[in-house]
Amino acid sequence: KYCRGGYMPIESKQIIRYNLEIVRKLGWGHFSTVWMAKNLTTDSFVAVKIIQSSPKYRMVSFKEISLLEHVKTTDPSHPGHKRIIFFYEYFFANSINGVHLCLTFELMGPSLLDLLVQSNHCGLEQPGVKKIITQVLLGLTYLHHTCQIIHTDLKPENILIKITNSYLNELIDCVNSFEARGLKKPKSYVTALEWNQNKNLFVEPEESEIFSILKKRVQSCPSKTEKPEFLKPVMAKFRKPLNMPLLVDPNIQVKIADLGNSCWESKRILPIQTEQYRALEVIIGADYSYPADIWSVACITFELCTGAFLFEPYTEENLYCIEYHLALIWKLLGGIPLNIARSGSRSSALINLDSENISFQKIGDILKEIYKWNDFNANSLEEFLESLLNPIPRIRPDAFDALNLKWLNN
Ligand code: ATP
Ligand code: MG
Ligand code: MG
Repeated sequence: KYCRGGYMPIESKQIIRYNLEIVRKLGWGHFSTVWMAKNLTTDSFVAVKIIQSSPKYRMVSFKEISLLEHVKTTDPSHPGHKRIIFFYEYFFANSINGVHLCLTFELMGPSLLDLLVQSNHCGLEQPGVKKIITQVLLGLTYLHHTCQIIHTDLKPENILIKITNSYLNELIDCVNSFEARGLKKPKSYVTALEWNQNKNLFVEPEESEIFSILKKRVQSCPSKTEKPEFLKPVMAKFRKPLNMPLLVDPNIQVKIADLGNSCWESKRILPIQTEQYRALEVIIGADYSYPADIWSVACITFELCTGAFLFEPYTEENLYCIEYHLALIWKLLGGIPLNIARSGSRSSALINLDSENISFQKIGDILKEIYKWNDFNANSLEEFLESLLNPIPRIRPDAFDALNLKWLNN
């Protein structure tokens, strides 16, 4: 995709605009590559999203810009305003592949998906999850009720963690030390970072505690050629037995990102939502609105708490299966009301369901049996999630009501 009409070829130190110097790659997606860059005028850092140059991508990204502009200017004093990624401006850059639309954003750290990976998919401790979900819901009160925008793609990778100054300095030190040691820099710091519990910081694996222990062992290893074989199993062993929820920085701040798939409530689009986070009404092809985002918040909450998907609607061949998805929802909620079941263009999938043979398994029981939670914690989270997963979108709490639910406040 680094071809005509595709991504812009970029190197670190490249000046992409008169005062903007590329530092390193942060991530990429279907539309773009995203880079950390230094504003040489203000001596500060930003993230630049550089869109593929073909008109198809440029058009969609202009829509993202209009949504971002609206979010930025509608009510900056709203407490939810700062829970949405801050957009600065856009400009154009030329490359051999064409003309690229570039969007600059405040620089953020890793995503919640990166946190989950670092937890070894064991999940995060509950107080941390409550902080994160409160902030996400606060962002949604603003996005929904002030801006009239439906995000439509809420999932852990689209929620980014705000970086602290000490984290940023660490990051810059890492870049410098990699360069000084003549090492190849990792492609994306986001995937390469490790959480350092003592420092409460993300660090490059090479700089992390685990790595320094490994390095000592490697140095005492007789033959250099043993290095790769030796490193891998130890690394794996070291991470596995931790088997406990990741502690979350008590000062954690997150923001909702990637409005690339978002839409105005008055101009809804289809298809929407990543499968695992897709709301019941969207699955059955019924009318959807803001409550679809609330459903995704429930899925994210469960995943952050346990490290596992709430719904994993895939066959053994790894194909998405609508009947299976509906069966999973049925199983968890103990049924789906008939009037809702019949309201969509794909309701036949539900009618074909062999519901007699679906056993009811409450969320609390899953938490107790599989994740060994105590009764109190399991029941409180169950109450919260069942409320957000109400099959009737109209009755599902909106972002304001969800903020007042008991689980978030005890
Ligand atoms: P998608 O295929 O998800 O639509 P996209 O091309 O629209 O991708 P984004 O999702 O906006 O791109 O960004 C791609 C990745 O870049 C993100 O998942 C994240 O890791 C990183 N990223 C995006 N914005 C920032 C930011 N402001 N600060 C730090 N990293 C960022
Ligand atoms: Mg994305
Ligand atoms: Mg996008």
